[in-house]
Amino acid sequence: MEFSDDRLISPAAAAEDFENEFTLRPRTLDEYVGQEKIKGNLRVYLEAARRRGEPLDHLLLYGPPGLGKTTLACIVANEMGVQIRTTSGPAIEKPGDLAALLTNLQEGDILFIDEIHRLSRQVEEVLYPALEDYALDIMIGKGPSAQSIRINLPRFTLIGATTRAGQLTSPLRDRFGVLLKLELYSPDELARIIRRSAGLLRVPCDEEGAAQLAACSRGTPRVANRLLKRVRDFAEVVGDGVITRETAKVALDRMDIDALGLDELDRSLLRAIIELYGGGPVGLDTLAAALGEEAVTLEDVCEPYLMQMGFLARTPRGRCVTDAAYRHLGMQPPQRASQPAQDGPRQQSFDDLEA
Ligand code: ADP
Repeated sequence: MEFSDDRLISPAAAAEDFENEFTLRPRTLDEYVGQEKIKGNLRVYLEAARRRGEPLDHLLLYGPPGLGKTTLACIVANEMGVQIRTTSGPAIEKPGDLAALLTNLQEGDILFIDEIHRLSRQVEEVLYPALEDYALDIMIGKGPSAQSIRINLPRFTLIGATTRAGQLTSPLRDRFGVLLKLELYSPDELARIIRRSAGLLRVPCDEEGAAQLAACSRGTPRVANRLLKRVRDFAEVVGDGVITRETAKVALDRMDIDALGLDELDRSLLRAIIELYGGGPVGLDTLAAALGEEAVTLEDVCEPYLMQMGFLARTPRGRCVTDAAYRHLGMQPPQRASQPAQDGPRQQSFDDLEA
């Protein structure tokens, strides 16, 4: 079974999302919907740093893709009135690449490294003194005559983002003063995001239409914005241009997205566990091979939402589906002595990200 990379509800960024970045991305904390605890804490840290006239402490943002980590980093820069340089773990190949980035920063600037868990060891080692002492240690020469010289850097703030906090080495994790975990958004918050985006895109969207889309957005603003754009096409061509509950339903149906926001890949994953592995437990790699998908796609894209919906459980022996998953697929749950996991929705925990 093959699934294309540009799944409509994949939380990973796609080319058309770059258009969204400019129009839809909130620019201030007030515009940023939800994540109230994080916003509350950030307001205090920002104010304290401003009063002391110092840069903000290094900050690590973690959580599934599409929840607003990059957006939050840009907001922090905006609120502090400083520049932000954006890069990602895999883009920094050599220590020299990082040194070039660091030496080009101005006092107070923010360096944003997305997918920071993918930094190489050598690059990480250059980062440690930069984070701790605002210094770069450079080796000149080789062998016995090699010398280390230290270059001072401007005081800057590193904002790291990761979907895998558990894969960060502990020396790197320990160097962040603040760790913030982003949670999946509630349907209410997603509806607010959809209404806001619809306003910016000048698409008429009523409250029920927004609620319908929110329910299918897998707790993820990036998915919400993407669905809004697709449903707009249907509303314009098939309907009268307004996104209502009815037009949203028709469009979602045509896109094979069910009432709970599961798409074909999610359903195939659940079905594969049921039909091929008797409901589980089954290891992630085995499952990925059976579906012809990357394990990381299943883990980052499908699983957080399926677990939040209470359809999937991670156990030490592998993945299991719950009775709720059988029922959602219109199947009869098997009779068994004990239920593998809780049936109701649950919040993601740090352990989920560490797996
Ligand atoms: P991440 O870096 O976590 O993958 P992004 O910051 O790129 O996610 O967010 C994806 C999109 O979702 C952004 O373009 C932005 O428009 C929207 N978005 C994210 N968080 C929020 C929020 N709290 N309020 C409104 N829109 C949001």
